[in-house]
Formats: sequence, structure tokens, C-alpha cells
Amino acid sequence: MAQLRRDPITRMWVVITNDHPKGPSDYLPFKPPYQLPEPEGPCPFCPGNEALTPPEIYSIMKEGEKGWGVRVIPNKYPFFRIEGEFDRRPEGMYDVMEAIGAHEIVVEAPEHQQTLALMESSKIRKILQAYQERLLDLEKDQRFKQFLILKNYPGIFNRHPHSHILAMPVVPRRIDEEIWGILDYYQRKERCIFCDILKEEILMKKRIILETVSFLVFAPFASRYPFETWIVPKRHRSDFHRLQEEEAEDLALAIHSLFLRFYRLLSDPPYSLTFHTSPVQEPFHRSEFHWHIEIRLRIGLREGFEWGTGFFVNQTPPEDAAAFLREVER
Ligand SMILES: [Zn+2]
Ligand SMILES: [Zn+2]
Ligand SMILES: [Zn+2]
Repeated sequence: MAQLRRDPITRMWVVITNDHPKGPSDYLPFKPPYQLPEPEGPCPFCPGNEALTPPEIYSIMKEGEKGWGVRVIPNKYPFFRIEGEFDRRPEGMYDVMEAIGAHEIVVEAPEHQQTLALMESSKIRKILQAYQERLLDLEKDQRFKQFLILKNYPGIFNRHPHSHILAMPVVPRRIDEEIWGILDYYQRKERCIFCDILKEEILMKKRIILETVSFLVFAPFASRYPFETWIVPKRHRSDFHRLQEEEAEDLALAIHSLFLRFYRLLSDPPYSLTFHTSPVQEPFHRSEFHWHIEIRLRIGLREGFEWGTGFFVNQTPPEDAAAFLREVER
């Protein structure tokens, strides 16, 4: 029997089906990302090719060695540009404004063939540090209301491991829906819905993939995608970029452990990862927001039905996904 499950935050319905069981093995094998053809020409993100990118914004040097370990540059083809005015105006009955913002690329490692799964957690910690320091800097610009950290693996235009930092002048719909759900729950119960979800998942255990001192990694109840995974800080925190040192080290461990499981158990699957953090600048900042990371594997998608109905269909119940990902030596 298929089941309709409602996400308690966004109230979005998801069809969870096991009529035709889609176990992890049904998604295998697919072509590992490193076997995909590389774009032609020299890689602009490789050491030695720095002149091929816009000037560097920020970098972290390798420890005890020469050269950079993490490097941040402006995106050559940005969704948002830093210069200019919003110029919000009507166009007939429609609204337009200039896409003012920032779009930066975080080159996560000097090595062209590197993945989160195989990186030491100390290296992942440096990537998190780069994210944090860039957001603390971007926060000074009053025009930006929302940050988004986004990673596609493998990268669409470049296979070199990298992620995107976006600073936007508006709060995007996905975040807006979450804020709406969080505030509605607060009004009714005077509690944070994410904090309540954490308690519930820790009690029920069946959707937990792994737990560290500061983070819970689990498959959400109304998972929209097979192996959808959330990483949520156990203590209520609204901003990712104000993460404490020990929490950041712990998060790097959680990320390393999770992606190693994906790599080993699901043959290095393609994925997308995003950080949802509170809008910045008053009055948009919400201390009620509970920041988190969402991960979806780009496998087994049913885009047509989703596009047509707004319903997601997931053929791998989150309980099965979590059980599968727990089965690995810690
Ligand atoms: Zn490269
Ligand atoms: Zn909370
Ligand atoms: Zn979210």
C-alpha cells in the first residue's frame, strides 16, 4: 500500500510507496560520476590555473605545505551580481528587479579528483570554515537577506570539487515555506518544530542514520526523495555561520561519515546538498529558525508527476533508507 505522508513543517504531501519495492539495490549500478566525460580544456579550479578565474576573495593555506587548501572566488557566470541597484519596477502587471547579490564558488580542495566521502574530516572542517567566514563577511552588506550554500556532485560544468555560496536580496520560497511552518507551530505550541522532530526521531530511532554529540543525521518522515537525509544541530540554533568550533568539528565528522556510507553502499551516487539557515538582517532574521542541511540523491526521480501535481513520490520509505545506511562499520 502506498501511504500519503505530510511534512509537518511545509505541510507538503508525499506519496511513499512500497507496492513495487525500490530497495537501494534497485538503483544500482549507475555510472560513477568520475567516469563521466570531463569538459574540454584546462580546469580553472586546479592549482596553477588560478589566472583563469576572477581574483580570489578568500583562501585557507594548506597546513605545513605550500599552496591553498580551500579557495573562494566569484562565479564567472553568477545568478546574482554584486554591483548595481535593485531597480524594482513593474513590467505591465508583472514585477521585475535586478538580481543583486553575490555568487561565489568555494573550491573545496586542490585535487581535481576528490570527494566529501574520501576527504579527511579535518579537510571538511576547512570547507565549513570557509563557508562561515564568507557568510560573516557577506552579512555586513545590508542588501542581502538570505544566504544559501549549495553543492551539486558531480559539478554540472566542472568536476573539480566545489560548492556555491549565494547571497540573495529576497527570501526564496523554500525557506519562506519553512519559516511559515515554524512560526505557525510556535504560535500553537510555543515550541520549535525542529527541536520536537529531533526528540521524536531520537525516541523512535527507526529513521536515524547516525548521531554525533551535536548533530542528528536522519531520513525525514515525509522524505520526498529516496535516501533524502537531513543533518540537524541538536541545540536550537538559527544561523549556520555562528557555529562554534567544537560543533563545526563534529559536523565535519558527521558529513564525512554520511558521505562515506553513500559512497560505499550506493556506489558514489550523484547528490545535491543545501544549507537552510535563517534570513539575515532585521527584521527578516528569525531566532525561531532552526538551521539544517538537506541532502537528496539525484537517483530515482519522478519529475513529471511532481511537476504536474506538486506531490512527490518516493519509492524508498525513509525507514528502509535509514536502516540500509546504518548497516556499516562505524
Ligand atoms: Zn581541477
Ligand atoms: Zn529548534
Ligand atoms: Zn530546509
